Amino acid sequence: MISSTPIFDAIVIGAGPGGATAGMVCAQAGLRVLILEKSSFPRFRIGESLLPRNGSLIEELGLGDAMKSVPCVSKLGIEFSMGHEMEGTCFPFDLGLLPGAPTYNVERAGFDAMLIEQAKARGAEVRERTSVKSIQTLADNDVAVETDDGVIRGRYLLDASGQATVVARHLRIRKTYADAIFQKVAYFEHFENVKRRPGTEEGYPLIVMCEEGWFWAIPINQKQTSIGFVANSGLARQIGISADRMLEWSIKRCPAIADRMNNATGPSTNQVIADFSYACRPYAGPGYFLIGDAAAFLDPIFSTGVCLSMLAAREAARAVVGILKGKSSHASARKRYIRFVDGGTRVYFKLIRQYYQHSFRELFLNGRGPMQVHRAVLSILAGHVFPKPPFALRWRLRLFDFFVWFNQYRAIVPPRQHFSLLADGGQT
Ligand SMILES: Cc1cc2nc3c(=O)[nH]c(=O)nc-3n(C[C@H](O)[C@H](O)[C@H](O)COP(=O)(O)OP(=O)(O)OC[C@H]3O[C@@H](n4cnc5c(N)ncnc54)[C@H](O)[C@@H]3O)c2cc1C
Repeated sequence: MISSTPIFDAIVIGAGPGGATAGMVCAQAGLRVLILEKSSFPRFRIGESLLPRNGSLIEELGLGDAMKSVPCVSKLGIEFSMGHEMEGTCFPFDLGLLPGAPTYNVERAGFDAMLIEQAKARGAEVRERTSVKSIQTLADNDVAVETDDGVIRGRYLLDASGQATVVARHLRIRKTYADAIFQKVAYFEHFENVKRRPGTEEGYPLIVMCEEGWFWAIPINQKQTSIGFVANSGLARQIGISADRMLEWSIKRCPAIADRMNNATGPSTNQVIADFSYACRPYAGPGYFLIGDAAAFLDPIFSTGVCLSMLAAREAARAVVGILKGKSSHASARKRYIRFVDGGTRVYFKLIRQYYQHSFRELFLNGRGPMQVHRAVLSILAGHVFPKPPFALRWRLRLFDFFVWFNQYRAIVPPRQHFSLLADGGQT
């Protein structure tokens, strides 16, 4: 059945941070844009800590005032520690080689709802509880998707459907990484009364490392802290613990996290989400642009997801505006977009891979290094990577790579003990 709805300039699948940003930028440029979202807002989502580059993007998008109504905690730095260390190493963002804007940890329900309201206010049409079931046509200037309400037609499709990767599944281009370090599962919940750092460090997310994976503790509002454990995908089966009890099991075995949670209150079971890294190349093709998690998913250790999604969304929207206003060809707009997404994600893939090496952890936790290499790594972690990291960061990152390699054979920083949750064989 072909519905009588008009033809939209852009149809966006998904109203998360990527979809809302794409819709907002298209609408502001005068395009007729429709955002289709299968759930209704506000809805829970994990991924609560934003990069400094995301803080400045929120300002660039004119969302500074709207942000004031979102439950959040100001994030001025980050703390990393090994599982047996009670005091971690703190990295204030203003130590970075390039200045890092203030940013936030957010309750995603409120943050995502704010973004979609702003997209509506700027002229995007949003249909909640409307799932895209299939793609019927995918060509430049002619796309059609099937929904519960019938077929909807448009000129471009912006896929921001998150891990559902609607277009990539249709084209069969979603490739997960075979390497086991990219195949993880995350166990998480929100707790109250989790101990925080004092003063301006209150909002620092804590990342705790162990051999089996890593923990996060992210203050998301005045009372609640998001706690999560990201583990190798086979761990729960190996130790015989049910998936919804893994968080409790892991916290008990990790002194650094257990200490912060001495007086914490919260559920005894946890939520679970698969955390497998993948990429869907090419990120743009005839009739489509892939945005955020619908393009690629990276291990969330460095909290990059929302920032990458919103930056890519703005870029994809600009590409569609450029094409439809006759300012660029399909081919050049696609090429620029692919380069933009590749440039940002490649840097983080490499850092994530290194992060799982003990040598990287030793060097990074040392907190300082020659020629300001640590300050450069911190700037990368703040999100200074688009369209590619500046030269001052690139050469220092190379040098840091070399130090990580060299430190495996000859210690250049004080060695740190490995920490395993399974030190006693994993008995409960
Ligand atoms: C364990 C874990 C921890 C994370 N921690 C962080 C963090 O600290 N910081 C950070 O920045 N990122 C983090 N992330 C990543 C972050 O959650 C995502 O990168 C981010 O939500 C991507 O935004 P998006 O708009 O691309 O997709 P999403 O936020 O997933 O939004 C996609 C939307 O599409 C809708 N949708 C799906 N299918 C359809 C369909 N067929 N039709 C219509 N609508 C559809 C969904 O309902 C959803 O609302 C984490 C991820 C995980 C798994």
